[in-house]
Amino acid sequence: MSRKTYAGTDVDVSFDAEVCKHAAECVRGLPTVFDTKARPWIQPDNGPAADVVEVVGRCPSGALRIERDARG
Ligand code: SF4
Repeated sequence: MSRKTYAGTDVDVSFDAEVCKHAAECVRGLPTVFDTKARPWIQPDNGPAADVVEVVGRCPSGALRIERDARG
């Protein structure tokens, strides 16, 4: 079990590297939030929460997940 959670102000995102299929929907969709060169590589506050939720929803493998959504 390698799921890790990345906390933000409005949303927390989790990621499981064992599930990831490297489709790159995340880094293509929102490169300021999902940046494999940054540490940590997921920074939920680096983009609008609505966009984070939308891009996480596009992850084809289920590796990305919204763990908490405290918007409005
Ligand atoms: S969109 Fe999902 S499957 Fe694709 S690289 Fe990102 S986390 Fe991995």
